[in-house]
Amino acid sequence: MSTLVFLEHHDGELQKGALGVLAKAAQLGDDDVAGVVVGSDVRALAEQAGKFGAARVFVADDAALDAPLPQPRVDVLASVVREHGFDTVLFAASVLAADVAAGLAARLDAGLNWDLVDLDRREGQLVAKRPALGDSVFVDVGWTSEPRLAMFRSGTFDPAAVGGTAEVLDVPVQLEEHSRAATMVEQAHAASEGPNLEEADVIVAGGRGLGGPENFTLVEELAKALGGAVGATRAVVDAGWYPYSTQIGQTGKSVSPKLYVACGISGAIQHKVGMQSSGTIVAINKDPNAPIFEFCDLGVVGDVHQVVPKLTELVRQRRG
Ligand SMILES: Cc1cc2nc3c(=O)[nH]c(=O)nc-3n(C[C@H](O)[C@H](O)[C@H](O)COP(=O)(O)OP(=O)(O)OC[C@H]3O[C@@H](n4cnc5c(N)ncnc54)[C@H](O)[C@@H]3O)c2cc1C
Repeated sequence: MSTLVFLEHHDGELQKGALGVLAKAAQLGDDDVAGVVVGSDVRALAEQAGKFGAARVFVADDAALDAPLPQPRVDVLASVVREHGFDTVLFAASVLAADVAAGLAARLDAGLNWDLVDLDRREGQLVAKRPALGDSVFVDVGWTSEPRLAMFRSGTFDPAAVGGTAEVLDVPVQLEEHSRAATMVEQAHAASEGPNLEEADVIVAGGRGLGGPENFTLVEELAKALGGAVGATRAVVDAGWYPYSTQIGQTGKSVSPKLYVACGISGAIQHKVGMQSSGTIVAINKDPNAPIFEFCDLGVVGDVHQVVPKLTELVRQRRG
């Protein structure tokens, strides 16, 4: 088996999700695990990928690839897969990766399984796991043809540095006419402090129980003390209390931090599906019958306005 992993990068850093997928591919013991880095001035990034299990890293380094647009990346990946005969291509979910994976599936007439949470080899066959029916069951999924394309939920695998070095191979960049049609007019980053939601080890999320948008400072302060990111439920996002980009759940982001602290969140199924794979779930809710207490690891029955500031203070003392 030969596996190629799309190594997404932003702001000069390889994304944790992609490195996690690379580490998982390496753990499966495939004969040939490679990465592909596409962008401008990205050779140094390619060298880092060896530490996470890539034996080879293909680099398409060209000014025309500077903007994070999907179609030029599809061109590069399609040519690497065809030229080097990779039978499996893996992605860590992101807005860009979803576009690249879908484009590559169409270009190579390949099957894409997405929203996956595990990957294994059984009797020589590659088998992945995907949550279904609102994450209440896991189903095994496979492929009937090659190349097999797979996209994993963000945060599914931890990047494990194994300390190797990768052979870095330059890829000639030949873009299709239609791939040059779109240009990036502007890129704006939402101003935010702390880690990005999908990459954070700790998430403190706020729900309607906070009582109003002004009380999100409670959640922000606790997240800052823990070095984490802030998440929100759809109820508060719909009410305009917090930005949509922070929504966690069925119609928001899926996250798997090591620690998830839910403040004033009832634990509706549509929220649960986006965070239930978190390592440790702590819930603070004044209603002892709130559904979140049925699936959290540690529950505090209490008022967020009293519990959260005390918790923040305690964390600061312990850390300080
Ligand atoms: C198709 C569809 C898709 C959806 N997608 C999503 C999604 O992606 N993400 C999502 O989150 N939701 C989603 N929802 C909405 C979901 O069903 C819930 O309505 C929502 O998650 C509830 O948000 P909440 O927990 O903030 O609010 P509520 O359900 O109103 O819960 C508030 C909680 O705060 C507690 N509380 C109140 N005051 C305090 C206090 N002072 N101290 C402590 N606790 C207090 C209450 O006991 C209650 O449990 C979706 C719904 C549908 C139909």
